[in-house]
Parts: sequence; C-alpha cells; structure tokens
Amino acid sequence: MAEVEARNISISYGSFKALQELNLKISHGEFLVLLGPSGCGKSTLLNAVAGLQEISAGQIWISGRNVTWAEPKDRGIAMVFQSYALYPKMSVRENLSFGLRVSGMPKEEIARRVSRAAETLQLSAMLDRRPSELSGGQRQRVAIGRVLVRDAEVFLFDEPLSNLDAQLRVELRREIKRLHRTLRATSLYVTHDQVEALTLADRIAVMNKGKIEQIGSPAEIYERPSTRYVAAFIGSPAMNFLEGGIETVSGEPVFKWGDRSIPLQHYAFTDAGDQRSASFGIRPEHLVFGDRAAAQDFHGEFVIDMLEPMGSDTLAWCNAGSGQTIGLRAPSEMRLAEGDRIPIGISAKNASIFDAASGRRV
Ligand code: ATP
Repeated sequence: MAEVEARNISISYGSFKALQELNLKISHGEFLVLLGPSGCGKSTLLNAVAGLQEISAGQIWISGRNVTWAEPKDRGIAMVFQSYALYPKMSVRENLSFGLRVSGMPKEEIARRVSRAAETLQLSAMLDRRPSELSGGQRQRVAIGRVLVRDAEVFLFDEPLSNLDAQLRVELRREIKRLHRTLRATSLYVTHDQVEALTLADRIAVMNKGKIEQIGSPAEIYERPSTRYVAAFIGSPAMNFLEGGIETVSGEPVFKWGDRSIPLQHYAFTDAGDQRSASFGIRPEHLVFGDRAAAQDFHGEFVIDMLEPMGSDTLAWCNAGSGQTIGLRAPSEMRLAEGDRIPIGISAKNASIFDAASGRRV
C-alpha cells in the first residue's frame, strides 16, 4: 500500500521555522493537494517527502517504511516540477526513456513503456521532436511522461501548471485528473491555485505559516471552512465578510452590524454561540435577491455601488452600511445598473461565522 505519512515534521532555516510539528497522512491511491499562499511551506513539505530537503525533527514514512534518511531514488517516488527540466538536446523519446536507459532496463521494455506513456499523454506523433519544437503544454506533458514510465508508487507534483497560459492550464489539469482516474497512484500536489485544488483533489490541506490549517474534501473546505483564513482563501470571488457582533435578542442569537441584524436560529453553531465580536461570512452565490429575498432569515435593500460584468454573470458590489461592502453574482440578463436598490436575502444556514479574535468558526 503506497501510503505517505509525515509524522511531526519540523523544518527550520536558521531561526525561521518553515514547518512546525506537521502531521499528514495520504492514503493509498489518494490525490492530496497542498494549498496555500507563497511562503507557507508547501514546497518545503513536498521536498521533505521527496528526500530533497533535510528535516530538523520528525519522520517520513512511505508504504510502511521509515524513509526519513533514505535517498530520493530509494523512496519509490517520481516528481514533476514547475520547470519542465527536459534535456534540450534529446528528442521526446530520449527524454522519456533517459532514466530507464540509465537504470539498464532492457530495450524492448523501455520501448513498450515509452509508447504507452506517449499514447496516454497524446505525444505519440511528437516522439522525434526536441523540446524546443514543443509548446509549453506539450513540454509539461513530456515531464509528466517521464514520471509515468517509471514504477513509482507515489507521484509528487510541484506547481506543474504554473508556467502555462490559462487555457493550457485548464487542459492539462483535466489530463492530470484523467490520468489519476486511470492509474490511481498516491499523489501529493502543491499549488497556490484554489481552482486546481478544488478540481483535482480528493482532499485538500490548506497551509498557513508552516502548519496545516484545515484538511478535508473540497466540499468540506468550501462549505465549512474552519477558520476565516481558509474561508477567505477559497472561493472566487471571495466570501463576503460583514464585521459586527453576535448578540442575544429575546433569547435568540442574532448577528448585528450597524443597525441591521440577521437572526441565527438556523445557523449550525460549532460552539455555544456566546456574545462576541465576529465576522459573518457569506459567499456571493448564497446571497438571494429579487422575489425570493423576503423568504430568507434576513432581507433588506442594498444600493449597487459597482458592477463587474463577467460574461455569463455580473458581480454586483453593494453598500452594506457601516462602510462595508458585499458582492453578489447576478445573471447578466438581469440588466442591473449602478445606483439600483435591490432586495437581498441571507439564509443563516449558508453562512460561516468566525470569532473576531481567534478567527475560528463559531
Ligand atoms: P511558493 O509557492 O512561493 O514556492 P511555498 O509555500 O512552497 O511557497 P516554501 O518554498 O516551502 O514555500 O518556503 C517556506 C518558507 O521558508 C518561506 O518563507 C521561504 O522564504 C523559506 N525558505 C525556503 N527555503 C529557504 C532557505 N533555503 N533558506 C531560508 N529560508 C527558506
């Protein structure tokens, strides 16, 4: 079973702690994405699993073996980097087969593996070309192909799509997903792109300052972010936050900001729901407007400050009072105009509320 486990990993660069007592377990066949902003420690963790990074404390286990001190080549891993790192003077075929030739594998077996990988990645017609005769997307496919031809139990990806333009990124993302469906290799994938994380992952680990802030399925992370940090990082356009406080009115909790309040009877509190300063988070797609607004826990009229047409829909940024703004997605055919007053409804069950001091979900 190709499980990967990081046990209590700490990594320091001088006095700077890049990873702090981090624990992570990737199951056999799972596609786990490490997601977080630049500098949060994603690549450091990936490199530690690969054996390219010395660790200060803790252990790495792969397939039931403690590989903490094993050489990268003895870990049963194969890695795809952001820079394709292809040999410029070699053809695609030679690039794909290089590692196998060095290992002394019989020629027929090499040919079989190269042709199978080329077919999977739609490179069969390009085997005799050099990297300079390929597009960026094709080069990255060759880099993935080099991983495919090996007998790796674990695939590691370090931002493999970030050098590609937007359209190619979407295409190759789908190919990686298809590949994982076929091969079911245990995979660890680093990215700062939340869309890549949401579309590819079985589970996402959201990292913040050398720690895992939350780990869960894309749906869990999107629908029930455990901290404000995770809530703000995932979703485009980002979740709206209204800054205010939780109070008790007639024995029931409400969220108040300015002179407005949202009843919270239908909010699933994770703790006692005591009075406190809090941020009320609601995703743009969960704001209800028009006739259905009145049927929600809260409804009120808001003035549109600014419109951003996005093609199929339009983002409407509205004045929410007390100097705060909320954005909602409206179908473009609604023909909204800046300055319009529109009824907006909010259902507390779709909200995520965070304690203002700790940032944790309440
Ligand atoms: P990015 O997406 O930008 O690659 P990341 O989340 O992968 O970011 P890491 O590369 O893991 O981040 O780096 C984590 C932190 O450790 C960063 O603050 C970085 O500046 C620091 N760091 C990384 N390598 C070294 C080094 N060799 N010496 C000192 N600090 C380092």
